[in-house]
Amino acid sequence: MIGTRGLFVPGPTNVPESVRKAIDVPMEDHRAPDIPDFILPLFADLKKVFKTETGQVFLFPASGTGGWEAAITNTLSPGDRVLAARFGQFSHLWIDLCQRLGLEVEVVECDWGTGVPVEIFAERLAADKEHQIKAVLTTHNETATGVQSDIAGVRRALDGARHPALLFVDGVSSIGSVDFRMDEWGVDLAVSGSQKGFMLPAGLAIMAASRKAVDLSAKAGFRRCYFDFKDMIATNATGYFPYTPPMNMLRGLRASLDRIEAEGLETIFARHHFLAEGVRRAVKAWGLTLCAKEPKWYSDTVSAIVVPEGHDAKKVIARAYARYGLSLGAGLSVVAGKVFRIGHLGDLNELMLMSALGGAEMAMRDVGIPVVAGSGVAAAGEYWRSASPAVAMAAE
Ligand SMILES: *Cc1c(COP(=O)(O)O)cnc(C)c1O
Repeated sequence: MIGTRGLFVPGPTNVPESVRKAIDVPMEDHRAPDIPDFILPLFADLKKVFKTETGQVFLFPASGTGGWEAAITNTLSPGDRVLAARFGQFSHLWIDLCQRLGLEVEVVECDWGTGVPVEIFAERLAADKEHQIKAVLTTHNETATGVQSDIAGVRRALDGARHPALLFVDGVSSIGSVDFRMDEWGVDLAVSGSQKGFMLPAGLAIMAASRKAVDLSAKAGFRRCYFDFKDMIATNATGYFPYTPPMNMLRGLRASLDRIEAEGLETIFARHHFLAEGVRRAVKAWGLTLCAKEPKWYSDTVSAIVVPEGHDAKKVIARAYARYGLSLGAGLSVVAGKVFRIGHLGDLNELMLMSALGGAEMAMRDVGIPVVAGSGVAAAGEYWRSASPAVAMAAE
């Protein structure tokens, strides 16, 4: 194809040029004496992104899914009970992983388009007088449905019930893009990956564990080797890894963290909210709805857009890709064919998103969905033109 393709799946996200160039370096000796000078600051800077001072950051060559497995196997034992809610494909897959590893998962089934049911969790925790529940699993941003959840609320539910369960957060599509506060929210395990807010290729599970979680790893009954916290902690402390680290990815991570530092986390959050709000205006102008059922669930990193009854979202996605070189996110599992998704996270600005909105609009019209030509683009443009991220945030 001539010109660039549009990548608007919610991960992998667009890798900025400075990060791509940082990755493209000759192979290095990962045991060289000066490597710790490079590695140790990575951990220090990642702690700032997770907003943790006391937590321990881990970088495993894996994807986010590997981070889930590391989180579970380092802190729990086979047969342990965990509390989780299913409201989208990623919360579902996490439950599936726990079940396949041999945990007993107390699943709260929720409508897709809603998020972590804080009140139901509070009731279940209060009822669990014997503290059978060892961990509460939450998906901060359900990427399949474009739903953001209240993690601070889950912490209040735990504290309200005086329940000692660990708080696990899947932050793969939220950390580094929207507000996340590991220490303040009392998060014990936060899992992310390189290919979303961190603007890198897939290949790194980026995670952090609280002191409590790290201490528990001495007693956790799951067998593990590659993902063992202990080996990582011991070797990372000296600025090395227990096995060959993906040095090019770590060079890319340096460039990514430099960008995050330069823009500033709070500015990044404001930008994501601002861009997301423009997309939501476009959806409204099209006369369509989001999969997220209420504004309190709206995600600032991805929007799942419901196509009208009688239409197939897969056709929109196929047409956008084939005709306009635009990748939109597919509807997964329960919402397959019903929604298409626009990822709006990472290295992104208004005009980049305009191409996604324009392409989605054309593709929808091409497959017979009666949206008014230019309506979404106009609504988003007028919003972005009339405000700035800071103004938009202050108005709320
Ligand atoms: C992308 C994603 C994952 C899975 O991550 P992989 O890197 O594909 O293993 C898990 N949870 C959420 C919320 C995600 O968005």
